Amino acid sequence: MIESSTRVYAVIGDPIEHSLSPALQNWLIRRFDLDAVYVAFRVIPDRLKACVDGIRALGLAGINVTVPHKQAVIAHVDRVSPEVERLGAANTLVPGAEGIEAHVTDPVGFLESLSGERERFRGAAVVLLGAGGAAQSVSYVLGRLGVAQLTLTDLESGRAERLADLAQRSFGLPRVTAMEAGSDSLSERLARADVIINATPVGMSPHTERSPIGESGLLHSKQLVYDLIYNPATTRLLADAAARGAAVKNGLDMLIEQGVASLRLWTGKPLRLGARERGQLRSYLQERL
Ligand code: NAP
Repeated sequence: MIESSTRVYAVIGDPIEHSLSPALQNWLIRRFDLDAVYVAFRVIPDRLKACVDGIRALGLAGINVTVPHKQAVIAHVDRVSPEVERLGAANTLVPGAEGIEAHVTDPVGFLESLSGERERFRGAAVVLLGAGGAAQSVSYVLGRLGVAQLTLTDLESGRAERLADLAQRSFGLPRVTAMEAGSDSLSERLARADVIINATPVGMSPHTERSPIGESGLLHSKQLVYDLIYNPATTRLLADAAARGAAVKNGLDMLIEQGVASLRLWTGKPLRLGARERGQLRSYLQERL
C-alpha cells in the first residue's frame, strides 16, 4: 500500500515509455518487502538540471538515469563514485545528507550476470562489437576477469580507438586492438575468439532480422556469444550462434543485476536474488517485452 512513508524511486530518460525498469524494480520492491514505489519520468535534455533540482526538493529516494542523460547528469550532482570518475557515465543517483552521489551499476550488472561463466574469460580472446557506453562498462569488467586479448570494433573507428586506448591504460587489459568493422582482420579475430560480445544496438526490436556479424560461419561451438540486447530475447546473432552450437546469453540478466545493484545502493541493504528468483524475474520481464 502507498502511504506517506513510502519512498519514491524513479527512472529518468527520453524516450522512457518502453523502459523495463519500473516492471523490474517494482517486482524487486515486492520481493524484498520494501515500503517503496518506482515510477518513470520523461525528462528532455533541456530540463535535466531542473529535474535534478526537483529530486533534491522532493527528497526522492533514488533515481536511475538512462539515455540520453547518462553522461550529462554528472555535471549536476554533488559527488561521483570512483567508477563514474573513470567511465564518465552514471546510471544511478543516490540522494543523501551530503547531496546527490552518482554511481554506475552497469559494470557490476555485467559481472554478476556471468555467474558460472566467469572462468571462460581468464586468459580468453574476446571480441567486443560496439564501443559506446555499454562497451565501456563491459571492457572495464573484462580487465578484472583476466582477459588476455581484447579486440574492439565500432562503425566509427575513432571511437573504438579511444576505448582501446582507455582499456589498455586504465582497465588493466594487456593487449587491446581496435579493428575496422567488416574488415578481414576482424573476421579472423571473430573466428578465433573464445567470447564474442555484442554491445551495438544491431538486431534490437524492431530490426530483428539484422546481425552485427555478417558471416555466421565465423561462429562455432567452443564460443560464448553474449548479446547485451534483451528485446528480442533471441536476436538473430544469438539464433545463428546457437545453430552453430555456441553457448549463448542475452542482456536480461545484466539488466536485472544492474537494477538489484541500484536498489542495494538506495537501501544500504545486501539485497541479492537466488538463481531460481532470477529465473522467475526473467520470465516476468520477458512477458512484458
Ligand atoms: P551506444 O552508446 O549507442 O553504443 C553503440 C555503439 O555501437 C555506437 O558507437 C554505434 O556506432 C556502434 N555500432 C552500431 N552498429 C555497429 C556495427 N555493426 N559494428 C560495430 N559497431 C556498431 O549504445 P549503448 O548505450 O552502448 O548500448 C548498446 C547496446 O547495449 C544497446 O542495444 C543497449 O540496449 C544494450 N545495453 C544493454 C544493457 C543491459 O543491461 N542488458 C545495458 C546497457 C546497454 P554509431 O553510433 O555510429 O551507430
